[in-house]
Amino acid sequence: MSNIRKGRLIVVSGPSGSGKGTILSEVLRSPDYVYSVSATTRKPRDGEVHGKHYFFIDKADFEKGIENGGFIEYAEYNDNYYGTPYDFVNKNLSEGKNVILEIEVQGAMQIKKRFADALFIFVTPESRAELSDRLHSRGTEEEEVINRRLAIADREIPASFLYDYIIINERGKQQCAVEDFFSAVRAASLTPKSQYDILKTYF
Ligand code: 5GP
Repeated sequence: MSNIRKGRLIVVSGPSGSGKGTILSEVLRSPDYVYSVSATTRKPRDGEVHGKHYFFIDKADFEKGIENGGFIEYAEYNDNYYGTPYDFVNKNLSEGKNVILEIEVQGAMQIKKRFADALFIFVTPESRAELSDRLHSRGTEEEEVINRRLAIADREIPASFLYDYIIINERGKQQCAVEDFFSAVRAASLTPKSQYDILKTYF
């Protein structure tokens, strides 16, 4: 494996219930990866910690952040703002880390316009029926909330064609999904664009 490493921005999206969080917690055991903690105006859920899961801020502060260019992308989703803080991403990329953004599709498309080298990975279960089963078997949510999440998934799945790779996170095969993630990052590091710094020494 090459020792020449550059930090890469990695955008991960997928419906609620896709298991992307579990895959990422495995990936983040590697010191080469850091997770960008987003800011949001939504209220914390039970067990969520400020600074670990999100920076929970109010609408006025979020809008100030937008004005000051404090976010590399942001979106309104389910009546709340979500955004990726600029400083953390910038600092870690320049230190050679791979920075993971776990964000929804609108934000991902903003990143696509601004960061030519970013890698886009979409995670989804093996079928809609499986996604519905997973959302139901959590047992913590009302039917209405589940239906809303399925409707969001129906809207987001077509956008997966705009991503570089799609990982099918099959039931009981989470380790395969983690390996697929590392394979996607590795493949992205082998494209002519990624190898350009090496190639140009020949010109
Ligand atoms: P939740 O409220 O369930 O934590 O997140 C709702 C959605 O917002 C998820 O799809 C999540 O990936 C996305 N999200 C979280 N942080 C950000 C962010 O900084 N920017 C954008 N565009 N989406 C985000």
